[in-house]
Amino acid sequence: SLSDRLSGVFDKLRGRGALTEDDVRTAMREVRVALLEADVALPVVREFVDKATERAVGSDVLRSVTPGQMVVKIVSDTLTEFLGADSSELLLDVTPPAVIMMVGLQGSGKTTTTAKIAKRLKEKERKKVMMASLDVNRPAAQEQLAILGTQIDVATLPIVAGQQPVDIARRALQSAKLQGFDVVMLDTAGRLHVDQALMDEMKAVAAASVPQEILLVVDALTGQDAVNVAKNFTEQVPLTGVVLTRMDGDARGGAALSMRAVTGSPIKFAGTGEKLDAIEPFHPQRVAQRILGMGDVVSLVERAAEAIDVEEADKLAKKMAKGQFDLNDLRMQLRQMQKMGGLGALAGMIPGLKKAQQAMAQSGANDKALVHLDAIIGSMTAKERERPAIINAKRKIRIAKGSGTTVQEVNRLLKMHQEMEGAMKKIRKMGGLGGLAKMFG
Ligand code: GDP
Ligand code: MG
Repeated sequence: SLSDRLSGVFDKLRGRGALTEDDVRTAMREVRVALLEADVALPVVREFVDKATERAVGSDVLRSVTPGQMVVKIVSDTLTEFLGADSSELLLDVTPPAVIMMVGLQGSGKTTTTAKIAKRLKEKERKKVMMASLDVNRPAAQEQLAILGTQIDVATLPIVAGQQPVDIARRALQSAKLQGFDVVMLDTAGRLHVDQALMDEMKAVAAASVPQEILLVVDALTGQDAVNVAKNFTEQVPLTGVVLTRMDGDARGGAALSMRAVTGSPIKFAGTGEKLDAIEPFHPQRVAQRILGMGDVVSLVERAAEAIDVEEADKLAKKMAKGQFDLNDLRMQLRQMQKMGGLGALAGMIPGLKKAQQAMAQSGANDKALVHLDAIIGSMTAKERERPAIINAKRKIRIAKGSGTTVQEVNRLLKMHQEMEGAMKKIRKMGGLGGLAKMFG
């Protein structure tokens, strides 16, 4: 994968005293191959590599004490920049009703995303939202939206048989105005492929409804195809943003990287599942980190913060940032895992922790066993928790007895802690936890 590949490149750079210009160019060649393999469009790859090389070679990197890390930082910063510097919100600050028009190919996730955004606007911004389906091609498309509307308790425009898309759009606006809605969401029809009939329909609807936002919905899993689709739409419809769906799947960062460069529009949201709250604002920095193989540490800690109290998360984040991780921290993590829905929910969130996860799986750390592990740590003295290295054979026997487990189980727990501590150090070496300290004040 792109992540593994880039990690490989940087591992090679790391641990060297000084980097020559040749080193940088060699590394960048690998970056180039990795990006191409990850489905990033060729012109985007070229631009990216040129920019990153220029920065790495031209700067003080070559004389730096830790040149490898500086190159990592430059690549990471350049990635973030290519993905779009900031996460951008919807711009709906107009005399109501504001209009959001959703466009994209059939099956890209338009209708689902329409409902997801409607739900967000209703719940997070207390907006009164109406949804209208303009899809008269697919039988039952309008009913599909009406059903979603019922599920999330958002109004949908009553269906009038035989009406054409532009007329439905006009009726939606009129009805929203009369009934005092803040936002009208127009879910348009898709096609299997981009064709002129579709583009003409989109243009006509846009002209009739004058949307504040025209969001292109694309399936991140389709990689290079998604980029071509985006290119076609950009040329004909004035897009204001992109929504990347199926980011929960095996999507590489590649599509995201090209998308921004090809459309010139910001990626505003990422769809992360089939459920109607599976949508997140798009955070370029996080995707850049994911691409670099650091894992979505920020998301993980955010989620942890939802489940545990912020003070505890704050403490842990600071310790992690320093590369400290003792058995008290492990215990807290185990408790978080229970609160966060068990081990399954965490799987894969931190690539660096894969090994630790495997160790946990081997130790039979299913959700029930989390309680066992907690008991083992509970039977240790404060000193032992802070400095696991002092736990000798005699102490192990005592701990096993105290927790009603075996010495073998105590050993497995200690091994697990070592693996996790190693992973924390690795994350730290790769540039630390970035915005964490800021996030928690
Ligand atoms: P449309 O034809 O563009 O309106 O696409 P739909 O909204 O009907 O979605 C097609 C399928 O994709 C449905 O089964 C959705 O549940 C699924 N889907 C949409 N967004 C996502 C996403 O972010 N992740 C996943 N896993 N599935 C999604
Ligand atoms: Mg649809």
